[in-house]
Amino acid sequence: MKNDKIPKLERILEKPIKVFGKQLKIIRVILIAGAGILYTGMLFNETHSYTPLVFLILLLILLGISAFLMFKRILYFGKYNLECSSAGDVYLTQLQGICPKCKGSLKIVKKDNTKKILCDKNDTHIWNLKEK
Ligand SMILES: [Zn+2]
Repeated sequence: MKNDKIPKLERILEKPIKVFGKQLKIIRVILIAGAGILYTGMLFNETHSYTPLVFLILLLILLGISAFLMFKRILYFGKYNLECSSAGDVYLTQLQGICPKCKGSLKIVKKDNTKKILCDKNDTHIWNLKEK
């Protein structure tokens, strides 16, 4: 099992994420989230109301996800992935592969905090996903 070749996953979907017809750039998301954090942080400091605090937390999450995506280049969630190109463009992608053992279809799952490639027909057909 350990010496098995890792099956190849193919990109079957690659959709650039666009906002108002413009390609979404990861660095813009980070800058906007950063500016928003400063703004809502100041608002919270002045008003002590919870509305800016909620936005502040959401923006922190957005900033965290964007920074993670920028470093990791790919984020897996369910069937789809978010990928970030070296130019910083954000894409929605979907990977698909065929199980080399039984021709079942492969998907990416998270198990014990690591990502694995799992066959949908037999759950002993499992590989570690190599991340860059
Ligand atoms: Zn299989």
